[in-house]
Amino acid sequence: MSKLIVIIFILFTTHAFGQALTIRPINCVIKESDNKKIARLLNYERMFYNEIFDTDINFDVPITLNIYGKIKDFKALKQQYEILKSADGFYASNVNEAFLFKSSDYISISLHEVSHGLMQSNFKNPPRWLNEGMAEFFETFDFDENGDLYSSPQQRIIQNIKTGIELKEKNRLQTFFSLNANNFYTEGIADNYSTAYSVIYFLVKTKNSAALTNIVKLIKQGKTSEDAISTTFGSFKNFEDGYKRFYYYVK
Ligand SMILES: [Zn+2]
Repeated sequence: MSKLIVIIFILFTTHAFGQALTIRPINCVIKESDNKKIARLLNYERMFYNEIFDTDINFDVPITLNIYGKIKDFKALKQQYEILKSADGFYASNVNEAFLFKSSDYISISLHEVSHGLMQSNFKNPPRWLNEGMAEFFETFDFDENGDLYSSPQQRIIQNIKTGIELKEKNRLQTFFSLNANNFYTEGIADNYSTAYSVIYFLVKTKNSAALTNIVKLIKQGKTSEDAISTTFGSFKNFEDGYKRFYYYVK
């Protein structure tokens, strides 16, 4: 495991959280300590969403997590919802609930899927890079032995991005941001998740969540992702240069 990063971008708040989390175990038992951990980590997601969407609605967004203990049941459910066979979890927007299998890393998967639930409450039809990038980023949240929040970088993804930059891939980002709902999940899906995560990670690590807030605001107003980024950074090239520099130097 790589060096831990303490997240300092979240402003602490005195808001009392509502009991807006329902964890529903199906043929399994969820330890009380895991219940509490998911609830606490979810509260950090709520705060992050409040910051990015410049709102406070996320404290009370109801989240329901259905956690399956039997793989057979979960496979049948995926078939019913027409979800990829390889998926460890999914979020169903029609019922506004997350579903996952209780694998060894089910807490990370829970954090990923509830991010989709929060996103849906803030932005009905978000660009896929934003939706999956945020979810991939939250997957890495955990507490250290002192109970402090940290996020461990997804090293495999970071190394892939570094390799891509060293190969001087042309227009990687521009092509990426133009992916739509249909082709994000089909052409080069693993690469798309990686790039989505890398954009969020870059903005957070360079302490630029204000840029992300602005990008999101512009996209909600109807701009394309590329235009929103260009406006926020002065030009798309400025953004791309900063991103490449970051991944060139980051370990
Ligand atoms: Zn996802």
